[in-house]
Amino acid sequence: MHRLAHAAIGLLGDATELQRLHQCAACRWLFLDHSRGAGRRWCSMADCGTEAKKRRYVARRRELMAARAPRPAGGTPG
Ligand SMILES: [Zn+2]
Repeated sequence: MHRLAHAAIGLLGDATELQRLHQCAACRWLFLDHSRGAGRRWCSMADCGTEAKKRRYVARRRELMAARAPRPAGGTPG
């Protein structure tokens, strides 16, 4: 815990590091983005990245299915 606090203080004193500090779009954890272009949105691409993509895929699929859903039963044929 002390080491974490020390790291946090060091981070707050470093503007460039602070600019790399992001909040994960999935789990709300803070993470440092050291990737080129700093376009990361998740603390871990393997965990939250996949999870978020999966969720978006499912949501999108649900929308498509809803749009494509057959008309409610009882409609007049033809
Ligand atoms: Zn995350």
